[in-house]
Amino acid sequence: MSVRALKAAVRDVPDFPKPGILFKDITPILKDPALFHEAIGLFARRHRGKGIRKVAVIDARGFLFGSALAYTLKAGLVPIRKKGKLPYRTFEATYDLEYGSATLSIHTDAFEPGEPVLLLDDLLATGGTALASAELIERAGGRVVELDFLIELSFLKGREKLARYPIFAPIRF
Ligand code: AMP
Repeated sequence: MSVRALKAAVRDVPDFPKPGILFKDITPILKDPALFHEAIGLFARRHRGKGIRKVAVIDARGFLFGSALAYTLKAGLVPIRKKGKLPYRTFEATYDLEYGSATLSIHTDAFEPGEPVLLLDDLLATGGTALASAELIERAGGRVVELDFLIELSFLKGREKLARYPIFAPIRF
């Protein structure tokens, strides 16, 4: 099992959710026991024993990988959610999308001060979502150790926006 096999399983869906977007569908990885195990293993091997206390995950596809990873690392799990979904007191960050804007939120008490946090999402595109999420982690008192993505769309240059953070993204298109 290899990164090459994971990459080959990512399914391109043209014009989803709107015309002109080539959507990278990760459900073929999720439904395959060996591929799902390897996807989590890539991150687990990288971070095991390195002191990650919390895995912060982005609504909604980040949840699919982050929960399994946090369990494996014996870390806690912190959801970063779309506005209006978290029940307790929140910090919010609004950022620009291709059309319009979006707001993400995190619970104000998600972290102990200075706690090492790994941010995980399924895919890095322009980097706006991850940048807003990293800023939320910091406002809530966490220390961002690394930003991890299963997939990076490198032609969108999200890394440039995230230059102040280490990034790990094993599958690149
Ligand atoms: P961005 O803020 O541009 O980096 O977008 C990243 C977020 O949007 C991630 O949460 C992805 O799940 C989602 N996303 C953006 N572009 C795609 C794409 N082409 N295929 C699948 N998901 C995408």
